[in-house]
Amino acid sequence: MTNILVFIDVPDGSLHKSQLELLTLARTLGQPVAAVSGPVSDAVAEALGEYGATAVFQPAAADLDAVLTVRKADFLAAVMDQAQPQAVLLPNTFEGKEIAGRLSIKRRSGVITDAIAVAHDFTATKSVLAGAYTVEAQVRTGTPIITFKANSIEAEPAPEAASPQLETVAFASEAPAAQVTGRTGKPSSGRPELSEARVVVAGGRGVNGDFSAVEDLADALGGAVGASRAATDAGWIEHSAQVGQTGQTVSPQLYISAGISGAIQQKAGMQTSKVIVAVNKDPDSPVFEIADFGIVGDLFKVLPQAAAEIRKRK
Ligand code: FAD
Repeated sequence: MTNILVFIDVPDGSLHKSQLELLTLARTLGQPVAAVSGPVSDAVAEALGEYGATAVFQPAAADLDAVLTVRKADFLAAVMDQAQPQAVLLPNTFEGKEIAGRLSIKRRSGVITDAIAVAHDFTATKSVLAGAYTVEAQVRTGTPIITFKANSIEAEPAPEAASPQLETVAFASEAPAAQVTGRTGKPSSGRPELSEARVVVAGGRGVNGDFSAVEDLADALGGAVGASRAATDAGWIEHSAQVGQTGQTVSPQLYISAGISGAIQQKAGMQTSKVIVAVNKDPDSPVFEIADFGIVGDLFKVLPQAAAEIRKRK
């Protein structure tokens, strides 16, 4: 049976939706096996089994996080040697992409990032050149290492849960050149992770410094808040909210763009959203070219009305 290795990073001890999506994808390609970046609790092992993982690898060394991504790549390389997978799947986060790059060098394998679909022959679909083209790409050297965008597939438990075998993997890692000495958590907004959210409401220069209408609609929909670079550069919202070529890429079920003109660099981060709704007061704004639904109007009038209507229907 074809092993598909899925990298599961569980710093907070619970599985994320995007990780369950990776396991669901792995089941369409072969037999999922999971490499977890820390000690595996019974609850995590059970959840992995529910999504079809037949084997779970955990590192013998503790605290892989303490040296950023270096040890995670070393661990994954050791798991690859043991599990002999036909492909490796990682989340399409900044860290996932960095680990993929390091792993590809260690195992002399090709790497594909930003995938939104992977076929049986490991042909990956992704967009390139700031979203100008969608291409199909295939790794021709070594084991395909693919980072997969959250929300590109619906997470579904396996028809029959597996009882994964737990294996502890010892691996060598060079003395780290840099070490994490402390972490500062940002206060929780109670909203979902931007890259994983099913709904994203994003604001641009049009919010003119006031994100309250954007945040309120996001809360009414249980969504995350995103932003254009114009808004993050202006300091109206934190940089981690930036969507686009130099920010996060998102693929939610619904992306509401408010006061954003739809520049190609913004499009690069959100064009794979399933439904795009644009609110812009300029009827000639290029954002309407990529929108499924467009509302010409002032976001400070449209967004509160939408939020009130949604709350009424709940
Ligand atoms: P604008 O282009 O100024 O658009 C504001 C829009 O708001 C206008 O269409 C206006 O009609 C509308 N508006 C104004 N008031 C209202 C109102 N009250 N109600 C409704 N609509 C209103 N950009 C990104 O977003 N993400 C990136 O990752 C990114 N990376 C970049 C990388 C590079 C190398 C470069 C060169 C640029 C990058 N940019 C990125 C910047 C990008 O080119 C645009 O400048 C930026 O996206 C514009 O942001 P905006 O749409 O919010 O602002």
